Amino acid sequence: MIKDNIEAVRQRISAAAARVGRTDAITLVAVTKNHPVEFMKEAAAAGITDVGENRVQEALQKQKEFPDNGLTWHLIGHLQTNKAKHAVEHFDLIHSVDSEHLLRAVDKEAGKIGKVQDILLQVNVAREETKFGMEVEEFPALCRLAGELPNVRVRGLMCIAPNFEQVEDVRPIFRIARALYDDMKLKFPEGQVQYLSMGMTHDFEIAIEEGANVVRVGTAIFGARNY
Ligand SMILES: *Cc1c(COP(=O)(O)O)cnc(C)c1O
Repeated sequence: MIKDNIEAVRQRISAAAARVGRTDAITLVAVTKNHPVEFMKEAAAAGITDVGENRVQEALQKQKEFPDNGLTWHLIGHLQTNKAKHAVEHFDLIHSVDSEHLLRAVDKEAGKIGKVQDILLQVNVAREETKFGMEVEEFPALCRLAGELPNVRVRGLMCIAPNFEQVEDVRPIFRIARALYDDMKLKFPEGQVQYLSMGMTHDFEIAIEEGANVVRVGTAIFGARNY
């Protein structure tokens, strides 16, 4: 069933890309948070290469239960500064760097283990009070700072859109994110900024139409989560 769901999501991704004439690669991050490691194994067997988790502790446990998984691990949830150490040890790409404090903590912890940590800057594009992510106004300064820190490498931008009743209403939000991302590319060495991470189960097709090349999909692949 997971295999069929992945196939269905892939077809929807291709269709959305085709609608806007895109032929570039789009990474499907299978969001396995709150699901058992067996689901992750099934997804990997069905060709999933990238998994997303939102809690460091849960990811760590799954890595223990699924060693030599060969997967690329994405941290998509809010990261507390005091967990930066484990985050840099266990994740390939951290999507949720959203403050100077956290940026500096990730840089410091990565430095300690001789790693250059790939990160995305999470921007609260929709200006939602309840969401994490830096303010749009803070974004230029944090780009500048990130460019100066030796142990982080900014690879792009992440945003989470509001859950509108009419899903089409997210389009302008994704459009702003895309504009910030295009602008961001010019601030870093050529080729470094490559990932625009936006779109979840309910809105990934619109995100792709607006330029997302990393989508984070949980429910459409694994069903509803049990909390
Ligand atoms: C849980 C989560 C997702 C996946 O959400 P679905 O609606 O289940 O696809 C994507 N991104 C983030 C940041 C999440 O926390």
